[in-house]
Amino acid sequence: MTETHTGGAAAESTSHGFQTEARQLLRLMIHSLYSNREIFLRELISNASDAIDKLRFRALADASLVGDDTDYAITLETDAAAATLTIADNGIGMSRQELIDHLGTIARSGTAEFIARLSGEEKRDAALIGQFGVGFYSAFIVADEVAVFSRAAGSDEGWCWRSRAEDTFTIEPAEGLARGTRVVLSLKPDALEFADDWRLRGVVRRYSDHIAVPVCMRKAAPADNDAGVDQAAPEWETVNAAKALWTRSRSEVGDDEYREFYRHISHDFGDPLVWSHNRVEGKLEYTSLLYVPRTAPFELWNRDAPRGLKLYVQRVFIMDEAEQFLPLYLRFVKGVVDSNDLPLNVSREILQQDDRVTTIRNALTKRVLALLQSTADKAAESTATNDAAAQGTPSETAGDYATFWDAFGNVLKEGVGEDVSNREALVKLFRFSTTRQPERAGRVSLDTYIDRMVEGQDRIYYLVADSWEAARQSPHLEIFRERGIEVLLLHERIDEWMMGNLQNYREKSFQDIARADLVLPGESAPKASDDVTEPLAERIAAALADRVEKVRPSRRLKDSPACLVLAEFDPGPQMRRIMEATGQPLPDSKPQFEYNPEHALIQRLDAEPDEDQFRELALVLLDQATLAGGGTLTDPAAYVTRVNHLLLKMLAS
Ligand code: ADP
Repeated sequence: MTETHTGGAAAESTSHGFQTEARQLLRLMIHSLYSNREIFLRELISNASDAIDKLRFRALADASLVGDDTDYAITLETDAAAATLTIADNGIGMSRQELIDHLGTIARSGTAEFIARLSGEEKRDAALIGQFGVGFYSAFIVADEVAVFSRAAGSDEGWCWRSRAEDTFTIEPAEGLARGTRVVLSLKPDALEFADDWRLRGVVRRYSDHIAVPVCMRKAAPADNDAGVDQAAPEWETVNAAKALWTRSRSEVGDDEYREFYRHISHDFGDPLVWSHNRVEGKLEYTSLLYVPRTAPFELWNRDAPRGLKLYVQRVFIMDEAEQFLPLYLRFVKGVVDSNDLPLNVSREILQQDDRVTTIRNALTKRVLALLQSTADKAAESTATNDAAAQGTPSETAGDYATFWDAFGNVLKEGVGEDVSNREALVKLFRFSTTRQPERAGRVSLDTYIDRMVEGQDRIYYLVADSWEAARQSPHLEIFRERGIEVLLLHERIDEWMMGNLQNYREKSFQDIARADLVLPGESAPKASDDVTEPLAERIAAALADRVEKVRPSRRLKDSPACLVLAEFDPGPQMRRIMEATGQPLPDSKPQFEYNPEHALIQRLDAEPDEDQFRELALVLLDQATLAGGGTLTDPAAYVTRVNHLLLKMLAS
């Protein structure tokens, strides 16, 4: 950022450049959100209400910050002649430095990458920017110029920030300001509707009814008697309900209000997927309102991204991002928790140790899991009825759980390591691709999988691969296909780790089908003494001695000549990749080689009298087995040379 002084001291007007990211975002926002421009008012009222919440909280420790001005309110004033709209609050206010920092930069990490993903395509960008949180800059959708007058609580210096959304803003001292912030918008010629009181009232009621602070406007003048209103002493009236939404009873709150409240607390532009609003009475008293978003925020995988609930104690806002009320694997949940029991001066440190917080956290965790389960059940029900009625399009609820799973499934999987006590409930929520789902998007629960197990099957079979496509092509599936046994296809980065944390589900154990100890339905676990020594196996073992640990005829292959099998504790393909990427040493283990005695190539190999030729062929089969299993060759050039050699021979014969 650059700073240019037009006078000598900091008290003079200074000019500042917007941070590059802020400038880019500002420009994109104005462009992409134009068709939904009234949302600017929601954003500014939301900021004003946050500012009042913050002051109310600070005043608990220092009442002098508030003084006599204790009637917290947000006021809206229009001036049609001047084409201005003013939004004022008597909240915490901003110092000069805060005006520069908060309104000139975007502090969230990952902003630059986020902007790079925007395309300039209006609709798509609008959705993306919405996830980012549009905030203060949305004022420029309707205003040519924005002036922000602010005096921080406890300070007697006032400042004015001013910008025309070009590359710069100015800051100068401002005299005689009341505590708090006043945002004055000079409306664009085509946005004059926002200088109309009636239009504004409608927008406030639509977007800001649930804000706990009164939003006030001047009383309307009687239509036939303008002189009847005393301009010197305007009378104000509250135009919103001004009651914190979660304090109202469920039956009183409409879905649209819930959705608007979600936008206020989440800074998400879109609708939430589902929510749960509950009051708990008894030993501990608290109210919670929890939302599951529809789309993942851009920073879902950023460990420092904001997460957690808004914490209130007896209706007083205490803090944003109270992380202690939900486990990390539910970090996508947004919402409010309002406790009657915690002290008003509660700090993050206290939250970490407090038993009451632990109790609430356990209850909220269960509540979210139950909410997700009921969403999943509804999806299953509506799919069932759709099937029965042979309707082509799945209902909206059928799509809901799939939407959730696409956005947050991989986060939820983290829970198998983090939350042992809820593991069964969590795993019930998981969805998997399987060999029976021809579409990549088709996924089933483990309950469905278990329901359609074949006779005698007591294990849940799965295969881990780098991608869905690779999983489907794996030679390990051949015997399962032949016997009609369904196999889970795990292809997300987290899956192998997840399976390492799962021993069984509903008393069925999990079996990785790419491992040596494979047990098929109706068979008992193999014993070492079962290993028969075939002459061909010994011959191959001698030829591949330094590359494989063991060689044996395979029961799992039908079409392929050979495959590789992992020993019980060897890292699978995903773990290997993670270990490689993080520079961890890979265990020095070799795979086991299984061949298909029925396959023509193996029979040809068996008949090969020349040992050198036999070794060449065996090496080709080994490299092919590696490739077919989705692996990479350590020496691809040697493989190509060998294959070419064989091809030439074939052509010559
Ligand atoms: P967000 O609200 O998502 O943080 P905004 O762009 O809306 O992003 O606002 C940036 C910051 O500016 C806020 O976090 C807050 O610190 C400050 N701010 C905005 N409006 C006000 C206001 N009316 N009073 C005090 N601070 C404000």
